Amino acid sequence: MIRDAAAQAARLAAARALVDDVLIPAEAAMDAGDRMPAEARDALRAHGLFGISIPEEFGGLGLTMEEEAGLMLVLGRAAPAYRAVYALNSGGAAQILLRAGTEAQKAQWLPGLACGVRIACFCLSEAEAGSDAAALRSTARRDGEGWVLSGRKRWVMNAPEAGMLMVMARTGAEGARGISAFAVDPATPGIEVQPAQAKMGMRGAAVADIVLRDCRVPADALVGAEGEGLKLALAGLDKVRLHLAALCAGLMERMIDEGRRHALARHQFGRPLAEQPTIAALLADCAAEALAARCMALELARARDAGTLRPAEAAAAKLFATEAACRVADRILQLHGGEGYMAGSAIERLYRDVRVLRIIDGTSEIQRLVVARGVLSG
Ligand SMILES: Cc1cc2nc3c(=O)[nH]c(=O)nc-3n(C[C@H](O)[C@H](O)[C@H](O)COP(=O)(O)OP(=O)(O)OC[C@H]3O[C@@H](n4cnc5c(N)ncnc54)[C@H](O)[C@@H]3O)c2cc1C
Repeated sequence: MIRDAAAQAARLAAARALVDDVLIPAEAAMDAGDRMPAEARDALRAHGLFGISIPEEFGGLGLTMEEEAGLMLVLGRAAPAYRAVYALNSGGAAQILLRAGTEAQKAQWLPGLACGVRIACFCLSEAEAGSDAAALRSTARRDGEGWVLSGRKRWVMNAPEAGMLMVMARTGAEGARGISAFAVDPATPGIEVQPAQAKMGMRGAAVADIVLRDCRVPADALVGAEGEGLKLALAGLDKVRLHLAALCAGLMERMIDEGRRHALARHQFGRPLAEQPTIAALLADCAAEALAARCMALELARARDAGTLRPAEAAAAKLFATEAACRVADRILQLHGGEGYMAGSAIERLYRDVRVLRIIDGTSEIQRLVVARGVLSG
């Protein structure tokens, strides 16, 4: 649902200028230094992107899913590391607070997340609990009025600059129903962020482990009912998956642009690469997949706004768009020949960046399980 067509058009125009004038020019430095340049971060804040879908009453943009998908089609043209920093504030942690938080909890956390003063971290995965999140072992035990959290969370995005942690910990028996969600201040004694681990791509958005050592939190750190944590975490996934599908469509369009420019500029055998039928066909295959991802993201975003989206549809969009984005990255790198393989070219960076999108927020294999469940249930 687009609430105000003129406002959406203005937002998209501003996003295009942000991508072209600030984000794309800063990509190479961000990748080389594994740090987001301050000017880029300030610009993301100024555009309100840390609060994309946080309601306006808490200082966010309060976008509908269709408005958010439209915006991500544009913002997806910039390196996905940017998105990993700003969009997670509207993601898992904020969605749990919006769904199950008390008014006091929302007032405590959401304004800081919406303006990007606090960076949200979603702490679910552990060494023995990846795709099988219900196997997590971190614990939260009652202690007087509050709780004591212990455990180790693996590969937490943005952990080195965390301003709030949404921690999933076991408060009951084994399995999904024994897990609860806690909103935790990273300054709480007993929390240690271990040195960030180097990654293949997405440089500029750091991941690190978070260790919880007898970390005491107040009773009101518990968000929602005891035992509801995993259900709450999974409830936000449809939205994230559509967001990623739109991001991937934008990213594919960017990579196609890189390919088009190279195919027109580079001459071999006395003519531009673009005049070789196999190169033109390669670009056509990329364009068809980018268009399909764009249509899926927008159509399903409208369905989510209308309340008719099915989990299998969101999973299908994430599966198709992330796999297609990797195929496009591979083809466009091939089109660049050796130049695409050498460090420093845009496609070399994007090829490394895009790969993780088939792993995070449910791997492609897990998406297939969700899609198959939808097919088999009729
Ligand atoms: C850069 C990065 C950032 C991340 N950020 C966060 C974060 O902020 N917060 C967080 O909590 N986690 C985060 N993660 C963790 C991420 O959610 C997990 O990596 C993901 O859920 C997959 O888990 P795993 O890596 O343990 O793989 P595994 O679950 O061990 O899977 C290994 C392989 O087996 C397949 N597989 C597993 N189970 C099945 C099955 N039932 N059927 C078929 N195939 C199966 C998988 O698809 C995969 O191909 C991040 C990971 C990365 C790499």
